[in-house]
Amino acid sequence: MEMSEKQCIYCAKKIIGRTDKKFCNCYCRSGFHNIQNGTANNNIRRINLLLQKNRRILAHIYAVFPRKKTVPINTLYLQGFNLAHFTHQQKHIKFGTYTCCYDYGYKIIGKYEVEVIQL
Ligand SMILES: [Zn+2]
Repeated sequence: MEMSEKQCIYCAKKIIGRTDKKFCNCYCRSGFHNIQNGTANNNIRRINLLLQKNRRILAHIYAVFPRKKTVPINTLYLQGFNLAHFTHQQKHIKFGTYTCCYDYGYKIIGKYEVEVIQL
């Protein structure tokens, strides 16, 4: 094994030893992984909140507007709907593809209208 001077990726102290070592000790290793997991958890929490907000907006529109009636897509935007976040898509041979947030879905019709469904 080649010996060289490297830095601990957590505390930046010099490490003397194997070239594949990334941390000077187990405290630095767990400190680093705690931060990484924290970042991942924060990202998951942030996206979950966006998805739940989208679902709430779809549920609200579904409750207010009669089924199968389209609404202006601005109705979604004005409430803060985020098109980039959805849980899955459902393809129907007859009805087309609905983009879903949990148990509600929508389909954009034309340029400015949207149809909301409950799954
Ligand atoms: Zn260290």
